[in-house]
Amino acid sequence: MIDHRRLGRELDLFVSDPLAGAGLPIWLPAGAAARHAVEEYVRELERRSGHQHVYSPPLGKRELFELSGHLGYFADDMFPPMRLSADDEFVLRPALCPHHALVFRARGRSYRELPLRIAELGGMYRSERSGVLGGLSRVRAISLNDAHTFCAPEQVGAEVAEILRLIREAHAALGVRPAGLRLSLRGSGGKYVGDDAQWARAEDLLRGALDGVDYVEAPGEAAFYGPKIDIQIVDAAGRESTISTIQVDFDKPERFDLSYTDSDGSRRRPVMVHRSLVGSMERLFAYLIEVHEGAFPAWYAPVQLVLLPVDDAQADAAAELARRAVDAGLRVEVDAAGSLGARVRDAARRRVPYLGVLGAREAADGRLALRLRGGRALDPMPAAAALALIGGQVAARAADLLPAG
Ligand SMILES: [Zn+2]
Repeated sequence: MIDHRRLGRELDLFVSDPLAGAGLPIWLPAGAAARHAVEEYVRELERRSGHQHVYSPPLGKRELFELSGHLGYFADDMFPPMRLSADDEFVLRPALCPHHALVFRARGRSYRELPLRIAELGGMYRSERSGVLGGLSRVRAISLNDAHTFCAPEQVGAEVAEILRLIREAHAALGVRPAGLRLSLRGSGGKYVGDDAQWARAEDLLRGALDGVDYVEAPGEAAFYGPKIDIQIVDAAGRESTISTIQVDFDKPERFDLSYTDSDGSRRRPVMVHRSLVGSMERLFAYLIEVHEGAFPAWYAPVQLVLLPVDDAQADAAAELARRAVDAGLRVEVDAAGSLGARVRDAARRRVPYLGVLGAREAADGRLALRLRGGRALDPMPAAAALALIGGQVAARAADLLPAG
């Protein structure tokens, strides 16, 4: 059966060491290279869609999380506070929203700045029980693709619709195939903040954005501060989880007393829309490793091109070509040790998308014989054309290894 933990080991993507702790995986160079490419893509997508990026620490004073409501409503999922001195206690944050509320509050805000979209790929922590932890799919240290839009109430509908569009774009580029959409609503019980009118308003806004879209309702799956649209995935073992989410929150702007100056000079309270386009890097990669069976699209493959000199006489030509590939922005390796057949098999085992074979003839006339993942061999072509072909597929973030047509 396909299991991202087994593939993660075979492909050297990440390691879970009991000495580091359960649910605290370490990304190895190959996994980190793939993740870095995905992070760059997401950051660029966000930048193009009007997001501004910030950095904030994964640790904060106890009072911050009392104010946000997390210690009152979410403490079961958090690590216990750490005491430095009698009046100085810190907690590992379970969410980025409190820090982003402080970003909004860092200075006076005008209606002209809205919607203000604050994004961060940030660390946060959840005290998951050790029994549910496994590989990257359930972890205690989470790197979340997160953003908060601060907007006027009448801007929420358009904002949610635009976020749904961005989610679809990101999923298409990464190869995420969602299993369905869920409107997560309040359940019975008292673990929710805010009044009924706020909840009804937020629910109406989300339902409006889902007009014409298939979804199921899930009572009891809302955040403690508001309803949400969740986009669900199913892993190879059939387990369902949330990869992308959009949440409408009237509560935190109240708690943090957020306001902006409207066009008539009056003070108004913004609405906070929480959203994650692709979820945490951990859960995303648990899913991507399985759905692609380790054979990532070239643009986020850990190594995109392995050059194989047929014998020692082509070693210099291979090293020179590798330098050019690196200069062109590609992740490249030269593998010169062992028989050619064994090297080809090893690259196939590692799911490398492009192999470049350099024999005496290719080295002599500056050509390269490309082989694609899956075994297809192309006719030798000028080395510059081969690098341009690979670079083009990478730049286009194409799912296929060759241009269409
Ligand atoms: Zn949030």
